[in-house]
Amino acid sequence: MLSKILIEKQKLTHQDINVLDCLHLLKDYLFNESLNSLNSIEEYNQKMINLESAMQYMWKFDTNPKYHTHWFLDPKCTCSKQDNMDRQGTGYYIVNQSCPLHGD
Ligand SMILES: [Zn+2]
Repeated sequence: MLSKILIEKQKLTHQDINVLDCLHLLKDYLFNESLNSLNSIEEYNQKMINLESAMQYMWKFDTNPKYHTHWFLDPKCTCSKQDNMDRQGTGYYIVNQSCPLHGD
């Protein structure tokens, strides 16, 4: 569910909202992909970066990866959600080395 307050603040059109709804469906689809079905983790992570940049663009924000949050909200990710939320915008992240998506 998109924030109605933010929609008004950013002066989004119905078309913008429709595109954002589609991007969120795609995010949910990617979140539901099992690790076994991924061709490569690097390709998957790049798709998430591209998707989140597209979301920022549609929200009329700067496309800045320092403010991306979905990469660690993926249910497959075991990196600390709270620590990374607290570091939003800094460019510093806490990565769990055993995370199947972001670890070594
Ligand atoms: Zn992770």
